[in-house]
Amino acid sequence: MNTTQQNKIISNKWVKLICGASNEDTGSIEDICAIYSAAGVDYIDIAADPSVAEAARKGINWSKKTYGKNPGLMISISDGKDIHFRKAKFDPKICPPNCKRPCENICPTFAISEYGVSKNKCYGCGRCISSCPLNLITEYEYQLSQESLKDILLKIKPDAVEIHTEINRKDAFQKISKIIKDSGVKLKKISVSCGLAQSNAQPKDLAKAFWERYEILSEHNVQLIWQLDGRPMSGDIAATTAKAAVKLWERMQPILPPGLIQLAGGTNGNTYKFLKKDKIPDGIAFGSVARKLVQPLIEETFKTNQKIYENPEKMAQAIEKAKTLLDPWKS
Ligand code: SF4
Ligand code: SF4
Repeated sequence: MNTTQQNKIISNKWVKLICGASNEDTGSIEDICAIYSAAGVDYIDIAADPSVAEAARKGINWSKKTYGKNPGLMISISDGKDIHFRKAKFDPKICPPNCKRPCENICPTFAISEYGVSKNKCYGCGRCISSCPLNLITEYEYQLSQESLKDILLKIKPDAVEIHTEINRKDAFQKISKIIKDSGVKLKKISVSCGLAQSNAQPKDLAKAFWERYEILSEHNVQLIWQLDGRPMSGDIAATTAKAAVKLWERMQPILPPGLIQLAGGTNGNTYKFLKKDKIPDGIAFGSVARKLVQPLIEETFKTNQKIYENPEKMAQAIEKAKTLLDPWKS
């Protein structure tokens, strides 16, 4: 099958942009949200932080005014420890002066400088951690406490929430679900993100976990999304990272509860090439690969003290780039 035929088969699918559950780089977030809203994503998934939500809404509003495109806003939370909710750190004072700085070179968001890791720009991908020859970089957990969740929901009033969970965390998930319900915030969708992160877990265990969450979430009466994490993250590392998400989806699709099924984790511009003609998912989420595609243009305009949408030429280039990722799914 050639690319055009495959494009026809999977067009008009749901696409979500993942800004990063611990990404607080509000300057870039505003730009990225403007670019991908204009390019046609259906939803944008951000960190559960009011200033991040404000930046995302500015970008989305620009797209609404300019292109009439207005994706929904989703916030990501977790019912326990999760690598999507972490950041890296190191003390730059103890780095040898002759270090070639592989950490800085590998960071996709330009978060590392001579001053160490910029907390706002780091989204916890973990690449710098393994790049340091002296093992000077460590990670730390960075997420919302359950006590502040209700307040955050009331402040942001998102259209949707994504709950990151693990197979054996049913009770913790139930608590989060209750906090959301008790907050009274009217959601349009709830997404559940889970994968086979536990080494000996099987697809049937994952399906059981999704069915348990389905029962729990029935009290919300909203559309449900099952996000299958093929890999923890980082679809920009190699074309083949997409295989894991496709493989997991093929195994899980017949045994999942009702709802929209979305590929994530390692997804990239090659994902559609691994799909079979008669097996196409409802949608896809793009994270690091989407951000990396437009980040250099954002950095360029940042140097001129402009938002990217204040520079029509750069903005047009950025939207074209974003569309190369989205077009197989949205054309
Ligand atoms: S490489 Fe990843 S984990 Fe390290 S600073 Fe950059 S974004 Fe953070
Ligand atoms: S690679 Fe390690 S030693 Fe080198 S600058 Fe980065 S943190 Fe410091």
